[in-house]
Amino acid sequence: MAEKKDYYEILGVSKNATADEIKKAYRKLARQYHPDLNPGSKEAEEKFKEISEAYQVLSDPEKRKLYDMYGHAGLGGDTGSYQYQSYENFRDLFRDIDDILDDFGFGGFFGRRGSTGARKERYQRAERGEDIATTVNISLEDAYRGTTVTVDVPRYVLCEACGGTGVKAGSQPRTCPTCEGRGEIYKKAPFIIISQTCPTCGGTGFIQEPCDVCKGKGTVLKPETVKVNIPPGVDNGNKLRIPGKGHAGRFGGTNGDLWVYINVLPHSLYERRGDNLYLNVNISLTEAIFSTEIELPLLNGKTEKVKIPAGVQPFEHIRIYGKGMPRLKSQGYGDLILVINIKIPKEDELPKDIKKCLKEYKPEIKERFIKR
Ligand SMILES: [Zn+2]
Ligand SMILES: [Zn+2]
Repeated sequence: MAEKKDYYEILGVSKNATADEIKKAYRKLARQYHPDLNPGSKEAEEKFKEISEAYQVLSDPEKRKLYDMYGHAGLGGDTGSYQYQSYENFRDLFRDIDDILDDFGFGGFFGRRGSTGARKERYQRAERGEDIATTVNISLEDAYRGTTVTVDVPRYVLCEACGGTGVKAGSQPRTCPTCEGRGEIYKKAPFIIISQTCPTCGGTGFIQEPCDVCKGKGTVLKPETVKVNIPPGVDNGNKLRIPGKGHAGRFGGTNGDLWVYINVLPHSLYERRGDNLYLNVNISLTEAIFSTEIELPLLNGKTEKVKIPAGVQPFEHIRIYGKGMPRLKSQGYGDLILVINIKIPKEDELPKDIKKCLKEYKPEIKERFIKR
């Protein structure tokens, strides 16, 4: 048998900690290691047992005194394992935990003693509906102009047949056969007895005939078409929230939201970087030397005449202010940047006289190698 750990050490408090400090430390650790918050973790379960045991001793002045004087041996038994006296003590201990879990919106692992009415109230606490996420693909043109799309979302909506209660109309409640009305069931674990919310009745202690339409869930899946307005300037990864268009809430809870993730498809000509647009432009050698005017196909469907200055160099950037994407979060537009590509003619494409002239033309290259 491994040596048992010191209870003060387990809770991380000093030997002269006050009752309040002990309680605080325990609640903090319980929040961290509670089995409901760590589903399937053996480690958390062990840890939780450890802190619970430490707390039961240190929170009891009598037991704490014995422990302070004689250590683990003072609590009776050299086996080192602590036997709980009864269910009652055990559940008293965990009432605190249920409060903690209530803070977290959990149903409570150990159930709660009290009247059936109180349990019913807890079980039927208003629940907000879950959010739904969907993705829409739009073109860069649509991202430029803004657009309206329709998305088909299967939503859980309140069941009309039962008004969301999940109970068949006219059916009378009867005592749950699994827990016999207690709302909780008990399980034996190595050295403790765990009480759990009854899975049959969900802790209410009674059952009712389920609604035929929703099978007792209170909600039914219904396909719905939702209109989504997409503002100009959206980019990949932007998400839009449509309030109340998620799944229906239960027991009077609000609906969840619909989240629409935007995916802007790649464009055949334009490349987008932030609010700026890049467009590769092919021009001829003579256009580069003598200048030219070209007509740009803009994303708004219009065209724009632009002068390419004489002497433009390969890969030079020509910036056209305010012809980029609309800025989503502020006024105005980004820029349109033309990236110049000069098409050098092949020898056999040149007319004879031009070829002759060019061969005689021997310009001097002053800097052969340059760093870009
Ligand atoms: Zn039950
Ligand atoms: Zn129903």
